[in-house]
Amino acid sequence: MSGGNPLDEARDQLANAIKTLGYDEGMYDMLASPRRELTVSIPLRRDDGRVEVVTGHRVQHNFTRGPAKGGLRYSPHVDLDEVRALAMWMTWKCALLDVPYGGAKGGVRIDPRQYSRAELERVTRRYTSEIIPIIGPGHDIPAPDIGTDEQTMAWMMDTYSASQGHTVLGVVTGKPVSLGGSLGRASATSRGVTIVALEALAARGFDPAASTAVVQGFGKVGRGTARFLAEAGVSVVAVSDQYGAIEDPDGLDIASVEAFVDETGSVVGHPGSREIDGAALLTLPCTVLVPAAVEGVLTEANAPRVRAKIVVEGANGPTTAAADRILEAHGVMVVPDILANAGGVVVSYFEWVQANQAYWWSESEVEQRLGQRMRSAWSDVTDHAESSGLSLRNAATCLAVQRVADAHLLRGLYP
Ligand code: NAD
Repeated sequence: MSGGNPLDEARDQLANAIKTLGYDEGMYDMLASPRRELTVSIPLRRDDGRVEVVTGHRVQHNFTRGPAKGGLRYSPHVDLDEVRALAMWMTWKCALLDVPYGGAKGGVRIDPRQYSRAELERVTRRYTSEIIPIIGPGHDIPAPDIGTDEQTMAWMMDTYSASQGHTVLGVVTGKPVSLGGSLGRASATSRGVTIVALEALAARGFDPAASTAVVQGFGKVGRGTARFLAEAGVSVVAVSDQYGAIEDPDGLDIASVEAFVDETGSVVGHPGSREIDGAALLTLPCTVLVPAAVEGVLTEANAPRVRAKIVVEGANGPTTAAADRILEAHGVMVVPDILANAGGVVVSYFEWVQANQAYWWSESEVEQRLGQRMRSAWSDVTDHAESSGLSLRNAATCLAVQRVADAHLLRGLYP
């Protein structure tokens, strides 16, 4: 990540909310520290017989409103502070969307592109078996994140189930549909980002058909967001991935970019579009900018040059605190991650409910309920921001922190 330490950013946001809400230092301390952390060493047998040891973490930030919930990331940049920050943001996201979970996050420090499928299966199974004591449908429910997918979740579910002696579908979400996954889960985060982006455009008086979008990251979140925005009539003028960026001021043909990525693994080289610098993409003129790749990409250095009217945070933590202040001063609306990208956890919650009941819903039912939750959270946050004079991020964090703090106060402290 290119910004500051994400844990410092997350704790600063919490400190602001605690101050605004008038809670004491004890409440800050309780919410600033994760309830439980587990770091494991994962011995991996490579295909050539060598053994390599990689590090994995699982951080459970909070259980007050229900079991912990959060993604599992495979990336060479994983570190414990980053996992702690992401776990805290999950707590706020679940509270804001009013799903009955606390927050968690997991990470394995590994570059999945450097390993075979068999090696990734062995890493996943060993990591899962190391964290089995702290996960489960009533304890902590992992899901996919950067570098992991529904196959990873299928292996986790199988490893956990083998340890229990029976199939436990509710231990992870983001599973393949044929294995207890939910219809609509794969596209849920992107749909949620798009719903919120369209609400933001409407709130600022922009017609989608006369608006342009720039999307950073073309993975599980960015790719669907680009497609759904284009379907809603927004002209997507630039997209990027870790290899580079492409633009077409007349609007990219997203279906053709998707087909090109399926074929080559990158957006770079897509015929008919112009290759541009990945960093320059963030400062292109557009109506809505969706950072949907990694943390800390909008910083003090580039925020003054951002020409988007609205930033919708598809990624977790893409805007540093300093950049946030600059964007606010420049009148750029920033829709915070805990609201904008919450569609994934909402449908994960639906998947868990369906798996626990062994009764599955139709895709249209899932999408309709997702839309309802996203729009209701959008109204909660914008109403609160308007009545309190807070930024959307501070309003969202305050609402979420208040829900978690209220639950703490009602439950009381044991012993
Ligand atoms: P992914 O691994 O599927 O995709 C990540 C994409 O970002 C890839 O296209 C990669 O090439 C690109 N990328 C990486 N570094 C980049 C850089 N420096 N510049 C431009 N592109 C870069 O991951 P994902 O699941 O799409 O997650 C993306 C972000 O969204 C993360 O912050 C994640 O925590 C967050 N998020 C994901 C979900 C989900 O359901 N998958 C839900 C909520 C939030």
